Amino acid sequence: MQLNGIKIVIVGAGIGGLAAALALKARGADVSVLEQAEAITEVGAGIQVSPNGAAVLTALGLQKEFEAASIRCRAVVLADYNRRGEVLRLDLMRHAHDLRFAFVHRADMIDLLADAVRQAGINIRLLQKVDSVEPGSPPTLRMTSGARISADLIVGADGLHSPARKALNGSSNPFFTGQVAWRATVPNDIGLADEARVFMAPGRHLVCYPLRNGSLVNLVAVQERRDWAAESWSHSDDADNLRAAFSDFSDLPMSLLGRVVDPGLWGLFRHPVASCWHKGRVTILGDAAHPTLPFMAQGANMALEDAWVLAEELARAPGIEIALDAYQNRRRPRVERVVAAANGNAWKYHLRSGPVRAAAHMALRLGGMVAPVRMVRQFDWIYRHDVTRGD
Ligand SMILES: Cc1cc2nc3c(=O)[nH]c(=O)nc-3n(C[C@H](O)[C@H](O)[C@H](O)COP(=O)(O)OP(=O)(O)OC[C@H]3O[C@@H](n4cnc5c(N)ncnc54)[C@H](O)[C@@H]3O)c2cc1C
Repeated sequence: MQLNGIKIVIVGAGIGGLAAALALKARGADVSVLEQAEAITEVGAGIQVSPNGAAVLTALGLQKEFEAASIRCRAVVLADYNRRGEVLRLDLMRHAHDLRFAFVHRADMIDLLADAVRQAGINIRLLQKVDSVEPGSPPTLRMTSGARISADLIVGADGLHSPARKALNGSSNPFFTGQVAWRATVPNDIGLADEARVFMAPGRHLVCYPLRNGSLVNLVAVQERRDWAAESWSHSDDADNLRAAFSDFSDLPMSLLGRVVDPGLWGLFRHPVASCWHKGRVTILGDAAHPTLPFMAQGANMALEDAWVLAEELARAPGIEIALDAYQNRRRPRVERVVAAANGNAWKYHLRSGPVRAAAHMALRLGGMVAPVRMVRQFDWIYRHDVTRGD
């Protein structure tokens, strides 16, 4: 289908919405982006971008900018929380040298996408909050200001609490997983190398990796607990609560936690993958369609993949609704598998029983010695998937 002259409104200027704007504009669509915030700013934290997400950035012409803004991850290291020494070190430069795993500050990622969107002549309209979405003909947005906006196609890239998802699927019932995550960045004055380190403890784990030329360290600290925190980064917590929860960790993680000021606190909820991704000429992508727990670091990567596939299917199909069906069929099985992998991952780091933990760590150690390539390649189905080559 020729996208020239087709008016597409994207709700949400997050990673998914901005990438979709670029991919659709490149195929000739008349795109605009509506964002509820007064500025395109991002919570100060890092994300990991794996090769499957980076492939989309490359196809959008942003490889150079992305590589300049990000750090290449050289290794993944698993360590016990209170002992010296590593349980497992996976050397990515040796065992996956053809793949580039990267760390990037979310704000830098959003900046590079937003700059490209503006350079492509796409209008990002700020302070535009969508109240509800009507998938009739034409599909229409009802804004909180009372205004109504119609288009040939509406794309809801409006994140976790998406009005577009609600219009297509009704309200869903996420449930608290019994885990909270703190996120913070601290100065890298311990000289943390270009690697992801995971400290594993009973009922908790801490992930850290460097950002911004190694000047910062990104921290994600996950704790199992009964009481829950709201599902939003706008909640900050007293850093002493974080330190108290991890006070039995060894010197290196504690020295990082000692530098934390004003961390964000996030309740981790499980949402079902949306069963309906499109109705009439309204569709959803990214977290709006499939919020995921952070334990495979794939939320933003999946949003990038969605953006590419949506544009490709629209350009390929004879009509919008056929294209949206093809988009859902191509994406849903994959994101369901990734979300399931993330759901199953946390407990592996959180083993409580001493003997079970010791046995699991021994198995990891042995695996790292005997079959490191197999350990690295177990997630090839995620990382080597390349939507820009038709996967
Ligand atoms: C602890 C943690 C760590 C993570 N780490 C990683 C990682 O390492 N790698 C990775 O790939 N992913 C990671 N993620 C997930 C990733 O951050 C998200 O999956 C990704 O940002 C989703 O992008 P999106 O564009 O779909 O939604 P969002 O980034 O949420 O963007 C939605 C946009 O829509 C706007 N919006 C919302 N509602 C409205 C409305 N009504 N009207 C107008 N605008 C609206 C919002 O303001 C926002 O700008 C992590 C998540 C968590 C919780």
